[in-house]
Amino acid sequence: MILNEPDRTPWDVRFRLFGVDVRIHPFFWLFMLLLSNGGPPLGVLVWLVAVVLSLLIHEFGHVAAFRLYGIRSYIVLHAFGGLAIPYGSGYGGSFGPRLAPGPSAFVAFAGPAAELLAAAMVVAMVAAAGAEVFFPFGGLFSFLPAIGPLGLSPLFDLLISDFVYVSIFWALLNLLPIIPLDGGRISQALFQRIDPQTGLKQALVLSMITAGFVAAFMLVKLGSWWNAGLFAFLAFQNFQTFQALGFGGRRW
Ligand SMILES: [Zn+2]
Repeated sequence: MILNEPDRTPWDVRFRLFGVDVRIHPFFWLFMLLLSNGGPPLGVLVWLVAVVLSLLIHEFGHVAAFRLYGIRSYIVLHAFGGLAIPYGSGYGGSFGPRLAPGPSAFVAFAGPAAELLAAAMVVAMVAAAGAEVFFPFGGLFSFLPAIGPLGLSPLFDLLISDFVYVSIFWALLNLLPIIPLDGGRISQALFQRIDPQTGLKQALVLSMITAGFVAAFMLVKLGSWWNAGLFAFLAFQNFQTFQALGFGGRRW
């Protein structure tokens, strides 16, 4: 999502899933614990399982889309989320320079799409199994479902609702047209398709404006300094890229 691939550490968790190499950086656990808001240890453990499942499904969406274009990739979960990185791209954290705008947008969209699809399937399955599905939130979050108890175990109910919430929020967050989120890659691909010369510049401007708005929203509406800071940092990073590319300053 945000950073380049972090270095390997002795505390990495490494495994192979469906033929894909997965590495989980130790800071991933730390960051996700911070996001968990505490609670009883079993609840936090369930939260971690839900986050790992949801983010792996997201990254597997990217991996599968890459495969359609003959590109093999591996997955890294790190402090700020996940990455699907093509082998030998030498371009850690990015989708690599080999894809044209269309395929690049498709690969970027495949992650959030897989995650939203998984959440929808889980909601449909628990509804079919007899759990109540309702929409208790108003306003901006009125689309968020809440799921009544399934009756198997309270921990399983918690896992289901954690998974659905994480998946919806993570997918929507990543679809914002902010570089380097998935949505930023999609908008960059679209702008570059319209105009290869100035496409990146336009995508960066949209990204800065969006990130600025989200930072203000996080601070004013949600009172979340941490998230506001994160998006302000992304806007600043976009500004630096904008300048480095020579769009901003005068050239002497
Ligand atoms: Zn993604």
